[in-house]
Amino acid sequence: MKDRTIAVDVGGTQIRAALFDADAKILRQRADVTDAAAGADAIYARLSANIRAIADDWSRVRGIGIGAPGPLDPFRGIIRFAPNLSGLNNFPLKDRIEQDFQIPAFIGNDANLAALAEHRYGAGRGATDMIYVTISTGIGGGIIAGGKLFLGARGFAGEVGHQTLDANGPRCKCGNVGCLEALAAGPAIERAVRAELARGRASALREPFTGADVTRTAKSGDALALEIFARAGHFIGLGLVNLLHLFDPQFFVLGGSVARHAWDFLFPAIHTTFEKNAMPIMRADARILPAQLGDDVGLSGAYALVNGEMTDEE
Ligand SMILES: [Zn+2]
Repeated sequence: MKDRTIAVDVGGTQIRAALFDADAKILRQRADVTDAAAGADAIYARLSANIRAIADDWSRVRGIGIGAPGPLDPFRGIIRFAPNLSGLNNFPLKDRIEQDFQIPAFIGNDANLAALAEHRYGAGRGATDMIYVTISTGIGGGIIAGGKLFLGARGFAGEVGHQTLDANGPRCKCGNVGCLEALAAGPAIERAVRAELARGRASALREPFTGADVTRTAKSGDALALEIFARAGHFIGLGLVNLLHLFDPQFFVLGGSVARHAWDFLFPAIHTTFEKNAMPIMRADARILPAQLGDDVGLSGAYALVNGEMTDEE
């Protein structure tokens, strides 16, 4: 009986692999460093060694699901433009895994897969239309429309962090200016604090500080830290308004480390902007919820990808 699934989460620093049973439960997992500076063959060797090490009985494995940084081509299973994993850009990942393991492989953008996981097992359960937004060192997401992950013509859809919110805003890593990511992701929050400190604003924050320090200082009531979170929350709120007007989802689910640790400081501003700017008839039933799944969200999403793709088989 093919009742097991292998899920892999390939990041810029870690490769995580897990063996799932048929009830979406992790039986075991392991993590290894990615060595992103190495070439494609070296990264792939490590990735495939992880897959080999996690499986016990190959006759029971129905598929291998892999989440990787996007943008990537989920149809051909090729990573296209991953700055933190550039060694694997244009590497035929799906084909190589299917060749080497003789098992169907499916590849998805990690933020898209997190959206799938929150939809199936987390805060988005029961929604037909849901948008997941992850706020951490970048801002990504995934759009569930009509119960399915919306991929777009080339598979690149759901880059919610790269919507332009300020035509005169800061340059984004993607090449655009004023993207949500450039205004409200973790590094943007730190940058905004730095700019205010350089202007002589009073704060308990002192260089050098990290994102975690900004959160901690906000918790103790520091006016500058609270103001910067409120500004980031305002931009996130604007992003959600755009997405509401375009996709009409029932739920927005916000995840990622910044959302998780700074929810109390971001959410009031997100909510205020959403209420102020969104079309009343559209926002009336829309809810903004914190993500429910923790660090395994990428693995759960890779599991969901395989089992969503393979439901019609066997
Ligand atoms: Zn951008």
